[in-house]
Amino acid sequence: MFDFMDLDFNENESELAVSSALYIPEAGECMRCGQCVSGCPTFRLFQIDEETPRRRIRTISKILIEHLPVSENELTHLNNCVQCRACEISCPSQMRYGELFDQVQATLQKPVNHLGKLAFHFIENKKQRAWLMPFLKGYLKSGLQKPFQSSGIFEKLGLANAEGLLSEPTLKPLAENYPATGVSRGNVALFTGCIAESFDRKTLLAAIKLLNTNGYNVQIQKKQSCCGAIHQHNGQFASHLIENNLSVFNSLVVDAVIHVATGCGTMLSEYENEEFKLRLFDINDFLLANWSDDVRFSSSNLKVAIHEPCSQRNVLKNQKSVSALLQKIPNLTIETLTDNQICCGSGGSYMLTHPENAACLRDLKQHIIQNAHVDLVVSSNFGCVIHLNSDKTKVVHPLVLLANQLVS
Ligand code: SF4
Ligand code: SF4
Repeated sequence: MFDFMDLDFNENESELAVSSALYIPEAGECMRCGQCVSGCPTFRLFQIDEETPRRRIRTISKILIEHLPVSENELTHLNNCVQCRACEISCPSQMRYGELFDQVQATLQKPVNHLGKLAFHFIENKKQRAWLMPFLKGYLKSGLQKPFQSSGIFEKLGLANAEGLLSEPTLKPLAENYPATGVSRGNVALFTGCIAESFDRKTLLAAIKLLNTNGYNVQIQKKQSCCGAIHQHNGQFASHLIENNLSVFNSLVVDAVIHVATGCGTMLSEYENEEFKLRLFDINDFLLANWSDDVRFSSSNLKVAIHEPCSQRNVLKNQKSVSALLQKIPNLTIETLTDNQICCGSGGSYMLTHPENAACLRDLKQHIIQNAHVDLVVSSNFGCVIHLNSDKTKVVHPLVLLANQLVS
């Protein structure tokens, strides 16, 4: 059964916790060991027990198992979780915290305001996103940003942080097929996600170029949908998105389905469908395993730091592939950032829902980056790239650097 340890144990709460004889079969047992505490980014920020994984697990137990009321305060601390899943890899009981967190979000059924509903709608609906993008592009080019920002309207709408993250979208859709350069070695499908085609085109084009150069034809399936991560982590139904992707990708005759952003890759890797998972690859792993000896890079004098997204480090666990790929570039200096295991605060939609916490974690990460004195930072997750990019910190997906250095 779940069992909990509190630093400031409350008598009444203790009775409730101990009275729980229920168990979530998918979860391991919490032994109260506390090994998850120091790696938790919110504990680092607040230094209180309420902001630890084991305390959140206790709140989850109250909701899911004991069906007890929880206070607003407990919910606030629960929802402060960045969902980095660092607690999973430090837990000797292998608690599946991410799964528990999603279960509790689905149970709580948090009310979503009009803006939230609109955001979910646009994430789900590709045609309507395509309709919105020219307006967004027009707004960003119009010079209206400054007057709107100073009017305070974005703060009132709760969009201050979202507005600052906007970059000019690419409007032209990707083609459906990108043939291999030279002799074909196989066919792959690229998972492009919900917004990367508009907002992270350079990474997708870099992925296509690297795959083509290594002899792979690349297909872009127009009917694919968002991976569902933002929905699922916010208590919304994601099953229609998952079912659509399974139907689209499982019907293809391809050697691999390749994801480019580790945040999406994490969600895709946890779809409960063996047929899909058998052909699913992270782009870094796929390129490393299938690199053609004929493909070469030009030399680079850059000093580059690798930022390890939590989704890569704690779930996909393939961060070494990035470094191994970059080592193919002659003379490139590669640094691993200090405290790479601590989340940068991006956390999918967390940077929008918890802008203050996200900004504090970003500041800590940027401080480390600046002390590393590098020319460039690479990160395999789009969310981390946009969250960390600043005037002082240039961050790109490692594929962009790799594609730039290809010798054609
Ligand atoms: S590391 Fe695992 S077992 Fe230990 S307190 Fe944290 S959740 Fe519980
Ligand atoms: S997922 Fe991350 S932020 Fe949430 S409790 Fe675990 S370590 Fe802390």
